[in-house]
Amino acid sequence: MGHPTDSTCIFCKIAADQIPCTKVYEDDAVLAFLDIGPLVRGHTLVIPKGHYATVMETPPEVLAEIAKRLPGLSKAVLAATGAKACHVLVNSGAEAMQSVHHLHFHILPRKGGDTFRIPWNAGKLDSVEGTALAAAIKGQMGC
Ligand code: 5GP
Ligand code: ZN
Repeated sequence: MGHPTDSTCIFCKIAADQIPCTKVYEDDAVLAFLDIGPLVRGHTLVIPKGHYATVMETPPEVLAEIAKRLPGLSKAVLAATGAKACHVLVNSGAEAMQSVHHLHFHILPRKGGDTFRIPWNAGKLDSVEGTALAAAIKGQMGC
C-alpha cells in the first residue's frame, strides 16, 4: 500500500492483521488499538501504518496524519473511560524507554485521585547553560 514495513516488527504485523489487537480506530494511514499491558484503564496506542522507528525518522506528513486524528481519538478515549485529562506521549529511542521500535503515541487517560504516577523530578535551568543550549539547538535548526 506504498508505506514501508518491517517483517520483524510486531506493530507492522498488527497493522497488517497478521497479529490480532483490540482495535478502536482504523483508516488508510492510522491504526489505534488498546495496549496489551495498560498503565491505566483505556491505555491506547496510535500508530502510523507505515514503519518508522522514532519521531526523528518519521516524515512530517506521516506525523501530521497522526496529529490530525489525536484530538478525536483522545476525546473518544476520555469519553469512554470517564476521564477528563490524558497524557499523549511518545517514547522515541531505547534510552527514552521505547521498547517497540515502530512509532506509537500513547494515550493515557487520567482521573483525579488515580494512582498512576510519572516521576517528574524537575531540576532548575541554569541561565548561562540554557542560553548556550538554546543557541546550539537554534544552530541545528538553521535559525
Ligand atoms: P514503548 O515502551 O515502546 O513506548 O511502548 C510499547 C507498548 O506497546 C507497551 O505499552 C506495550 O504494552 C505495548 N505492546 C507491546 N506489544 C504489544 C502487542 O503485541 N499488542 C498490544 N496491543 N500492545 C503491545
Ligand atoms: Zn513496524
